[in-house]
Amino acid sequence: MNDILIEAKNLSMFFPITKGIIRQRRIAEIKAVDDVSFFVRKGETLGLVGESGCGKTTLGRCLMQLIRPSSGEVYLEGENLCNMEAEQLRLIRQKMQIIFQDPFDSLDPRMTAGEIVAEPLRVHTKIRGNELKEKVAGLLRVVGLDSSMASRYPHQFSGGQRQRLGIARALSIRPKFIVCDEPISALDVSIQAQIINLLEDLQSEFDLTYLFIAHDLSVVRHLSHRVAVMYLGKIVEIANRDALYRVAKHPYTVALLSAVPIPDPVVEATRERIILKGEPPSPIALPPGCNFHPRCPIGIEACREEIPSLREIERGHWVACHLA
Ligand code: SF4
Repeated sequence: MNDILIEAKNLSMFFPITKGIIRQRRIAEIKAVDDVSFFVRKGETLGLVGESGCGKTTLGRCLMQLIRPSSGEVYLEGENLCNMEAEQLRLIRQKMQIIFQDPFDSLDPRMTAGEIVAEPLRVHTKIRGNELKEKVAGLLRVVGLDSSMASRYPHQFSGGQRQRLGIARALSIRPKFIVCDEPISALDVSIQAQIINLLEDLQSEFDLTYLFIAHDLSVVRHLSHRVAVMYLGKIVEIANRDALYRVAKHPYTVALLSAVPIPDPVVEATRERIILKGEPPSPIALPPGCNFHPRCPIGIEACREEIPSLREIERGHWVACHLA
């Protein structure tokens, strides 16, 4: 197990809902992440998939301690990040970076591309002057941008170029772990494959480990070594990519997979789409038992009462379902 880079143990993030103006009372909580445990091995990509609002972005931010979790632990190379003070965390953040969904929102419009890429180097290293300029030019080239673009502002770049800029910034301090939070969702389809290929190339060149967050299974298939599926704050299935796409065990994963088009026209013609009934319940008022039972096509009586735990049903294949 010493090939694990980052591990979450019983991680939860509940956002309080309060009432009252002078004395605020906690009246409920949103269970964005609920008792989640998993790990990511060095050099691997773990795809994290689920519908909007299922907690995957919150989980990514809790791993990086951009949001301090309500409970549980996060270990990076064996060190518990949840116990660390702000200064300790600032130092360890050099090992972790994030690439955001909308590169335009995450880049300061008043800074040039060069300043944006140089910023983490200024904060975390003593590199200055010409050495800094050369470093920035090199990083721009690595992500496929011309070094002469360093003087441009974010609005002068296309969406794909802005995402490349965000990747250059994330790479600047040579992190080990990168959370890619839906990095291609805001891009044109024609650009998406370029960014995926770039991330893949950078992974082998810089020995990176990714948590790749996406809302559908087709996006993560190419890039991921393993895939975790999340539903209403919980991981419901986690397995090697090929095992999961071949024989998904959780009814929610099966439904998600049924929505993925198949490139073979003969097989595609016979693809049976599973349409789940209803909407996911509110994370403020989760149903008793299995979170998925109000929508599950194969649920039984016990599903209404008992919460299924995440069990390893085959080597490396974990499922949270009473019937798996
Ligand atoms: Fe469906 Fe029951 Fe499995 Fe939940 S535990 S996914 S309701 S069969």
